[in-house]
Amino acid sequence: MARGELAVVGGGGGFIGGWLAKNLLEQGYRVRAVDIKPQDEWYQVHPQAENLQLDLKGLENCRRAYKGADRIYQLAADMGGMGFIENNKALCMLSVLPNTHGLMVAQEVGVKRFFYSSSACVYNAEKQKDANVTALKEEDAYPAMAEDGYGWEKLFSERMCRHFREDFGVPTRVARFHNVYGPHGTWDGGREKAPAAICRKVIKAKLEGKHEIEIWGDGSQTRSFMYIDDCIKGINMITDSEHVLEPINLGSSELVSINQLVDIVEDLAGIKLKRNYKLDAPKGVAGRNSDNTKIKQLLNWEPNTRLRVGMEKTYRWIHDQMTSKVPVGAR
Ligand code: NAD
Repeated sequence: MARGELAVVGGGGGFIGGWLAKNLLEQGYRVRAVDIKPQDEWYQVHPQAENLQLDLKGLENCRRAYKGADRIYQLAADMGGMGFIENNKALCMLSVLPNTHGLMVAQEVGVKRFFYSSSACVYNAEKQKDANVTALKEEDAYPAMAEDGYGWEKLFSERMCRHFREDFGVPTRVARFHNVYGPHGTWDGGREKAPAAICRKVIKAKLEGKHEIEIWGDGSQTRSFMYIDDCIKGINMITDSEHVLEPINLGSSELVSINQLVDIVEDLAGIKLKRNYKLDAPKGVAGRNSDNTKIKQLLNWEPNTRLRVGMEKTYRWIHDQMTSKVPVGAR
């Protein structure tokens, strides 16, 4: 079914977009990857794909990007870890433009699928005040009290997807990603998330022989982390599904505290570090986990790569990046 169809990945130069483009090529799609960044900054550049540098905030650029598309995967967004999204709310809200224009062009083109990457940041903050979390079910996004900036934009765009489906017949599918990690992603520069940041800090401490680590918050905040392979598998299952119409959790349900995540990385590195807790750093909600009842019910599957297994691969890749001087796009 895939062979010959054109799949366009908005944000194809990013972490998840790079892996998705690779997977779609392997499935037999013709792939166009589009990103605002110059190609030498893309995490992965696949020579078999058509690779375009375009700002998807513009309607005309969306028309160029999505021309002839059978499927659109809209992942382009200004995003990062807690440090970035707490301090760049306006930039995060501007991601509504690639989503709006993407949906308008999807309707013009008559795509067979429009996939949108939402986030666990849509969930009501009131339900995430305790590190001993009750995992979040899809309906917990309402009444709405999303993460300011980034989360509100995601929630709004989810609803736009619903209305474009209901009113204009655009076959939209939406997943709420919960903390995705893996090789070929952001690991420094301020937009990285906890798994990559902790790998980098531990590796740096090891390489420099300075056996200390700074941790944001008191380390008791809890999260679940999904390995990239599960994320890509889930995107495919959700996009291909005929019946997963409403936003659905795509995340691991293996809950850990940040301190436990540091334990895992220390163990991989074979060192123990003195932990310095930075209590005034951005740390997000106290606890968050993915309730996977719905995905198990609808797709008979849930992300299941054990954290330790995924972190080992991620740690090795970041270690290679830190000890080599190869530019990003050539890695
Ligand atoms: P990423 O930053 O690596 O990738 C996003 C890409 O979008 C970047 O390469 C960026 O240059 C590109 N982009 C931004 N604005 C653009 C524009 N105007 N035009 C074209 N390209 C643009 O992030 P990621 O982790 O791969 O995330 C992909 C998607 O998944 C995003 O929508 C993000 O909000 C969502 N998401 C990710 C996570 C996670 O843990 N990584 C969690 C929840 C949701």
